[in-house]
Amino acid sequence: MSELRTKILIAEDDSGIAKFLKSTLTASGYNAIMCPDGKTALEMIASHCPDCILLDLGLPDMDGQQIIASVRKWSRTPIIVISARTTEEDKAGALDLGADDYLTKPFGTIELLARIRTAMRHTRTTSDNDGIALSGKYEVGDLTIDYKKHRAYLNGNDANLTPNEFKIIALLGKHSGQVVTYQTILKELWGPSASRDNKILRVHMAAIRRKIEPNPYEPIYIFTETGVGYRIAENEV
Ligand code: CA
Repeated sequence: MSELRTKILIAEDDSGIAKFLKSTLTASGYNAIMCPDGKTALEMIASHCPDCILLDLGLPDMDGQQIIASVRKWSRTPIIVISARTTEEDKAGALDLGADDYLTKPFGTIELLARIRTAMRHTRTTSDNDGIALSGKYEVGDLTIDYKKHRAYLNGNDANLTPNEFKIIALLGKHSGQVVTYQTILKELWGPSASRDNKILRVHMAAIRRKIEPNPYEPIYIFTETGVGYRIAENEV
């Protein structure tokens, strides 16, 4: 019976946090596998094929970033970084290496469980067929993104986004509930040689917000993760 439960591997050396995570996840019906260091984590990831990985960056024997880079060479298993490091470089670095999300310690149970569900939902839709999300729709509140028609609507009215504005919002919609880094968006729009300058992105985002947000200064659809990227509200469909 336990084999059927969703397996979550936790790489965390702080025993207090590890215990908290294990009891929280077990209470929510998950099968939690604990690893106190990076070497054990890499071995267990390969042998247990977990459905999701919670990863502390500061492990005793290696840096969590090495684990992300290593796992991403052969697996798309969702990785959620849980870390006390709060700098924008740490967050953006982990996400650009291929982590799916980032939680800064301390975090709440509800937030953690929501992020796990979001990360796993995205792997399911993207691993089966990259086109699933794009052929459908994104809907939250009055905002609809129609991937097929390449249009965004507010209350059913065309928001008149430019092609680049639509590309940005479509990319965010495809990863709804997850932060998408500036670098990822820049690459999507202008290719691998894209500049690292976020200024152009901020200009586009200001324009998008003027078109879709009731109050562009207090966004309800697209949120800024300062210094890291943008996160669009979780898809309701
Ligand atoms: Ca640690």
